[in-house]
Formats: sequence, C-alpha cells, structure tokens
Amino acid sequence: MGRNIREIVAQLTLEEKAGLCSGETFWTTKAVERLGIPSIMMTDGPHGIRKQAGAVDHLGLNKSVPATCYPSAVGLASSWNRDLIRSVGEALGKEAQAEGVSILLGPGANIKRSPLCGRNFEYFSEDPHLTGELAAAHIEGVQSQGIGSSIKHFAVNNQEHRRMTTDATVDERTLREIYLTGFEIAVKKAQPWTVMSAYNRLNGSYCSENETLLTSILKEEWGHEGIVVSDWGAVNEAAASVAAGMELEMPSSHGIGQKKIVSAVENGQLSEEVLNRSVERLLTVIFKAVDQKQSDAAYDKEDHHQLAREVARETMVLLKNEEQLLPLAKTGKIALIGALSERVRYQGGGSSHVNPTKLDSIQEEIRKAAGEEAEIIYAQGYDLDGDENDIALLNEAMRIASEAHTVVLFVGLPDRYESEGYDRTHLDLPANQCHLIEQIASVQPNIVVVLSNGAPVVMPWLGCVKAVLEAYLGGQALGGAIADLLFGDTNPSGKLAETFPKHVKHNPSHPFFPGERDRVEYREGLFVGYRYYEAKEIEPLFPFGYGLSYTTFEYSNLELDSPEITDRDTLQVSLDVKNTGSRPGKETVQLYVRDVASSVIRPEKELKGFEKVELAPGETITVTFTLDKRSFAYYNVDLSDWHVESGEFELLIGSSSQDITLRASVTVRSTQEIVTAIHRNTTIGELMANPKTAPILQQLRDKRPELAPSDAVSSEMMAAMIRDLPLRTFLSLVGGAMTEDKLPKLLDQLNQAVGFEQ
Ligand code: BGC
Repeated sequence: MGRNIREIVAQLTLEEKAGLCSGETFWTTKAVERLGIPSIMMTDGPHGIRKQAGAVDHLGLNKSVPATCYPSAVGLASSWNRDLIRSVGEALGKEAQAEGVSILLGPGANIKRSPLCGRNFEYFSEDPHLTGELAAAHIEGVQSQGIGSSIKHFAVNNQEHRRMTTDATVDERTLREIYLTGFEIAVKKAQPWTVMSAYNRLNGSYCSENETLLTSILKEEWGHEGIVVSDWGAVNEAAASVAAGMELEMPSSHGIGQKKIVSAVENGQLSEEVLNRSVERLLTVIFKAVDQKQSDAAYDKEDHHQLAREVARETMVLLKNEEQLLPLAKTGKIALIGALSERVRYQGGGSSHVNPTKLDSIQEEIRKAAGEEAEIIYAQGYDLDGDENDIALLNEAMRIASEAHTVVLFVGLPDRYESEGYDRTHLDLPANQCHLIEQIASVQPNIVVVLSNGAPVVMPWLGCVKAVLEAYLGGQALGGAIADLLFGDTNPSGKLAETFPKHVKHNPSHPFFPGERDRVEYREGLFVGYRYYEAKEIEPLFPFGYGLSYTTFEYSNLELDSPEITDRDTLQVSLDVKNTGSRPGKETVQLYVRDVASSVIRPEKELKGFEKVELAPGETITVTFTLDKRSFAYYNVDLSDWHVESGEFELLIGSSSQDITLRASVTVRSTQEIVTAIHRNTTIGELMANPKTAPILQQLRDKRPELAPSDAVSSEMMAAMIRDLPLRTFLSLVGGAMTEDKLPKLLDQLNQAVGFEQ
C-alpha cells in the first residue's frame, strides 16, 4: 500500500517514537491510532503456534490455543530436507494467519556447542552450514504465507545456565566461522522480517546493545532489511539498545524503556536521527504484516496432523539394526515396554511448548500398523517420575519380555531432565531405565530401543540391544511415524545433525562449559562437534551425518566441471547415487571440503553441501552441488574478510562425516593477494617461502661461506635452524654482509619486492 513511512515518522512526537520501541503487552506492539499505526501480535515458536489465550508468560507455563505440534528442530534437522522444512514453515504460516498472529518467534539457529544445553532440542545442529540452510528453508516457508519469522537467538546463546547475564568470550574467527555463519546464510537467503537478539553478553557487551553484531554485521554487512527484536526481557539499557541497532524491546517495559529513550535524546546521548531510522524500520515491518494479513485464513487440522506425521517420519534416525531386526514382521507377539510409550514425550519444555490439536497414541498406532496377525502386549517397566527401580514394574516387564518374540523398549529423557531455562549436567538416561534395558536383555535377545529425547544420551547398554531408533521429540503425530518406521511402511532416512559422544567428557566444550560465574570462554575455538572429534581422532558413539536405512546406496562417477578454479568462480560437483537394495528409500549425500595444506589452523573437513534424494530400488540419480568461494574460505581476522588460500582442496563425498566413499581434488587460486609489511621481526622462513623475497635473502647468505652446510650441519638442518629467526637476528649471523644501519634499505627492498606500500 502506498504509505510514506518517513512522513508518518515525522508526525510522531518524541514520546510516541520512543514508545513504539517497546511492546504494548506481552505479545503485541503499540498502536498509534491517530496516525493509523496498528498493533501486531507475535508468538512462539519454531515448531507450533503458541498463542496464549489467558495469562501470559514466556516459558510455556500457561495454556495456549490448540495448534499443530510439529517435530522439534533437532528432528527437523535430522531430516536434512529443505523442502520438508519449508513445508512445515508454510503450515506454521497458515496457522499463524488463522490465529491473527503476524510474527512467529523462530527458528532457533544457535549452534549446539555442548550436548548438555537444555535447549538443544530447539536448535538445528552443531554445524553452521546445515543450520543456515535449514533455518533459511523454515523462514522461506513461514514468510511465503505473509507471516514474519524471527530467527533467534542472535547470537552465541549456546547454554541456558545464567543465560541472561553470562558473557560468552569467543575469538573473532570462531565467531564468524561457527556461531554467525548459520545466521548469515539464513539472513542473506531468506531475509527474516525480524532477528531476535540473545539474552547473553558477547565479548563484553549485551547482545541487545552490541553495535558490532546488530548494526555492523547484521545490517551493514549482511544487508538485513528487517528489525531486531529483543528476546523477552533481554534489554539491559533501552537507549543503548536503540543506539546499537535494536528496534523493538519485548515484552512491554511498562513505560521504562520509553522514558529512558526520551531522556537519552533530550540529553544528547542518543541522536533523534538514529531513533527515527529505527522507528522507520519498525513501521515498515508492522505495515508489511498488516498488508499481508488474511482475514479469512483457516487451515485443516487433520491435513496438518498428516503433515506432522510425514515430517516426523524423516526426523527419526535409525542408529543400529543388527541382524536386520527392523523392520518388524506384522506377526507374532510384540511386547511394548516403557512408560514413554504411554506418556508420550513429543516436544520440549519452555517457550516452544505447544497445546497440540490432537496427540497420537504410540501404542494405538503400533496396534493399528501391526494388524490382526500380531499380538501386542504392554508393560510400563519403570516409573517416569523417578529414577529408582520399581521391582514390581521390572518383574512384570521381564515376564512379558520373555513371552514375546520381540521387545520394543521405549526409553528417553523425562521432561524434568531437559528444558529451556536450565542445562543438563550429564548425558545419562535415568538409572531405572538403563537397569530395565539390561534386565530385559537377560531374558530377550530381540530388543529394539526407541528413544525420546531432545539431545544426545550416552548408551552404556548399546551392546545389549539389536536395534535403536532415535525418535527425538517427534511432535503430535510421532506415534504414527514410529509405527510406520518400525514396520517398514516407511524407510528411515534421518541422519544425525549432531555428534553423539561416548562420554560427556569427550565433548570439546566439556571443561569450559558452562563457564565460571558470568563468564564462559569458548576455548575449544573452531573445534565444535565433528570438527573436534575428527581432529583429535576421538571415536564418537555415532558420528555427525550418520543414519541407517532399510535399503543400501552406492555412490559413483564423481565429476568436477573443472580441475582448477579461482575464488571468483563456482565449481559444479556431481555424482551418481544408486539404490542397490530392494526397498524405496531416501538418501542424504553429504559433501565435505578439506584444505590439504594451510598456513592457518583448519578442521579436518567441513560440511559444504548436502542433498536428499528419493530413489526406487535399482534407480540411479545424479546429484549436483555448486561450490563457491565460501566453500573453501576461512575468516581472516587481519583482513576482516573471508579468504581462500591458494592450493589444493579435497572434496569428500559420503553418507556420513565418517563414511566417505568418493574423493576428488580441485585447485583453487586466490584472486585476493594478501600483502603484509616486512619488518625487522619478519622470519627468515617467511621470507624464504616467498618467491619474491627469497632471492634477495639468498644473495645475503651467499656472501657468508660459514652459513654453508657442513658435515656437522646438513642443509636441511641449517634451513630448519634458521627458519624461525627474525631478520634482526639473522643480521648478526651474516655479520658484516649486512649491518643494522643497512637494514632500513633492505626492508625497503623487500617491501618493494612484495608490493607493500608504506
Ligand atoms: C525465549 C524465546 C521466546 C521468548 C518468548 C524467551 O524466554 O528465549 O525463545 O521466543 O521467550 O516466549
């Protein structure tokens, strides 16, 4: 609609402008009726609409209107399926329209630094590329329906412990390569209407008042066109937030923020120009929301439930399947054991908690799928509300286990173990559940474990069971999806978007998580998730990217469209994938890049592409990836830019991070020459390695016969000994051939040779 937002802003009083920078209520923005500025509503959350009808809170405590509960982000990420996630986004957008909600608070794009983070179920992955791609698909889906997304929590909110005060100390390269890349991809690809700033501090300053983050990086560098909204209650000082580039404080600060902003403008601490621009951006989003509101929007609850089931099938990961125990035959006696098959855990706790439109019963869905020829029996097995063994429950479970042909054991984390608001302190399942698994194994060899949890658990009992299905938190239709997968009506295709370690102490963040008082140092740097396990050769329980299928796939014919490119070109990489088994199935092909030789520290490999394809038995499909500069680059802190070091890169194609079946090499030439000044402390090694400076240095050395190799010191030894000497020390070694007073001239000569302009 043809509105002149600048003119509207010009008509607002200072008080009105300052007032607009914070919410009217818990979930709505302020209206200014005299100028036709409406109020809009935002609600959680990433996998379902949480529109509260009664009392409000931001921890999901009070009930909300019924909405479809889709699988949590941890499961969505395990689908590795952009289209599927886009369709969840579209459905969420439709439901938001039907509820009169304009902005959906999600998706969560924080990196899983530690498996202990209580909110990992709401985040996608330990890998930034996967996170960014999937977050973008989610946002595209939601926004295609005229509803805004709010990607959160920007940035480095990787723990719940002291989340509102802790200061995350992260070096710049790690910040860029690990913690910001996911946001960057999503912002550039999908332009979320809003970005939610995190509660915590980052390198000393609250994310809500962090100008580098909100203005320099988000707005200026990435070109974000929308607004920044604070996490609920995250604002420290309202005027500082506006100055830093945050447009909206949520929820209402009951006039406090408004007063502080007015006085900051009046006393010259905040420029009114900055406030005006902030209100302009805010109004642009508000009017965009209003213009796209559909007054007659509705959705079909049953259709959306079916979608939730389709989605859930792809979110579950088959971790083990010895002797092909799965899929189960639809005959004989099958014992279902475990309270979690009755009191289903299908979503996580906190602000993303949805009031589902309906909830599948796992047991009923299994009965339906098994049909008439199978007999399904059930025992509770353990007390979900406590960790102690219950002998009566245990005995009953063992009795039915011994009668059955197969046992399907439902275990996992109870709600009290993981939630928004606090972190876990260990990765164990409740002791009574572990004990139950071991006891059942003593009477029954055919055990399938179905796990309900939002983040990795350790599995000391893994050797006692033949099959494990990681069902994560599968949303309201998880029951049907579990049944589909157990009986093979659907072929599992999920792959882990996070590493499952064998022990919590193996996780790289372990000794530094969650930090000391209000300071958490990200000392493991770049080495998050698989980047660390690979560098240290620590075998995980299950690696990143891993997941089994009931069929088999073969990869062949890896081809590159060029053996050599520059960092301005793109590279096409293609290969064939064939379904070599007897069932239809979906496979996620993963592409990792390895820098063969680098002057900077780099992980062994990094995910730079993935494609999920569906194949009938015997079918072959060609998968193509396009790589660009960023696929090969690291963040160079001296340049404040991404940089590719010229040289050879290996492209690794696999079905998981550790199952690499095809490899090829490409040479990438950098077009960005880094010219650094040569000074008296530049090392001999660096000068000799540079073809432009090596001859100059060689001339000096040639003048000194005593620097020639001898019987006692070979030329290799000589080279190694002097490699790290600074130029100034070298002077004394070539005594006479070069003296301190001649050094400035030599430096000029060297700097000229490399093209450094003083
Ligand atoms: C959470 C956000 C959520 C907001 C509103 C906060 O506590 O961190 O993710 O969107 O509450 O409920």
